[in-house]
Amino acid sequence: MFLHIDIDSFFASAERTVDPSLEGIPMAVGSRSNLEIFEKERIGVRLMNDNSGAFVAPVFYSQREKTFEAYFVDHVDGERKIRGIITSASYEARACGVKTAMPIAQALKLCPQMIVIPSHYRLYHTLSQRLYGYMQRNIPQVEQFSIDEFFGDVSGWIADEDTVEFARTLQAEIRELFGLPVSIGIAKAKWIAKLATESAKPYGIYRVEDIDTYIEHIPIEAFPGIGKGFQRRLKEHYITTLGEVKRNRALFYRWKKPGIQLYKRVTGTDGEGIAKRPDRKSIGISRTFDAIYDIEEVRRRIMIMARHIAHMVMKKEVNPTNYYLKINYAEGMKVKCTESVNRIFSETLFKRVLTEMYKRISVPHAGAVKLSINVSNFSEIQHKTLSLLSFDTDTDAKHLSVEVRKLRERFGLDIIKTANEL
Ligand SMILES: [Mg+2]
Repeated sequence: MFLHIDIDSFFASAERTVDPSLEGIPMAVGSRSNLEIFEKERIGVRLMNDNSGAFVAPVFYSQREKTFEAYFVDHVDGERKIRGIITSASYEARACGVKTAMPIAQALKLCPQMIVIPSHYRLYHTLSQRLYGYMQRNIPQVEQFSIDEFFGDVSGWIADEDTVEFARTLQAEIRELFGLPVSIGIAKAKWIAKLATESAKPYGIYRVEDIDTYIEHIPIEAFPGIGKGFQRRLKEHYITTLGEVKRNRALFYRWKKPGIQLYKRVTGTDGEGIAKRPDRKSIGISRTFDAIYDIEEVRRRIMIMARHIAHMVMKKEVNPTNYYLKINYAEGMKVKCTESVNRIFSETLFKRVLTEMYKRISVPHAGAVKLSINVSNFSEIQHKTLSLLSFDTDTDAKHLSVEVRKLRERFGLDIIKTANEL
């Protein structure tokens, strides 16, 4: 049997573990595009990377307490404007119609008594990571599917008829140990278990006895992995429920691999098991901001992002040989560039190459609104294949990077900046 375990309104529930006065009331977590790494004076910022086990982009968390006013409110020409979107809402808030991704200003109109808390990603990461550890100790085969979702396979370990009891114990223990409410779906097939969790929510357990009967009237939108494209195609064929999907096997098989995979998942015949966590293939950050026309300021921001990426690279002890830079402009243009650098990675080298890349692709007189930088193609450091000429300087630079990394680990990421960031 497969279990799918999903934390109920995770970020909101996580805030409740810290502040119990938030229990039982309409509340939500909101966020704004994270720009604080560019602030010239930051305090106590720590970097997080994927070692923490959750599948969200690297995030930064300021120790400084964020208030609603300070975090969400802008004053534009004397007018008070509430910015940001809802990232997670409690069930009490959902009862008023508040939904994920809704602008906070709009949500507060629907639910004026709602409390909105600025997001604390480090808390969510830590909880997610601890929960994953707990799952690994208590379920023989477990897969983390997202920051708040896990698949478990208990076949051959818990008898089928005992799975509900097992899930109930798990649910109670997670509540007790972590203060988090989870819902659990149980089924013979992995993706049906995930679907069943929706029937279990909030704070429930739902076990699918007969897959065919269960899926019969469920709308296609509810199935994980039926995106907008598939929905459109299915509606053209008057298919609106999973039961109708099941009766249209030939159609799905005409759509080749993606169609066949979907058909098997919907009918619970995919035979898919628990996935091993893949190695991370790239490390990157992107940031969105109001248009910047000043080339120097854009360059400075690229350097800051480079420092953060370099830190993660050194921490992971990989040697990326592909550097990627993309700039989106307010005018709708975007430019990008990939550089293959077959040398030993260091912050100095990375910043130098990025500076050259930026010079080459930047569009004069255009307003940059988004920067994306990543590194990929991690190679084993093989001295033979690396450019011999640069080897000595590279190893020196790498040595320096390692030392710098140790200092930053202890004192925070802002402790050492290079001249090109100033
Ligand atoms: Mg959830």
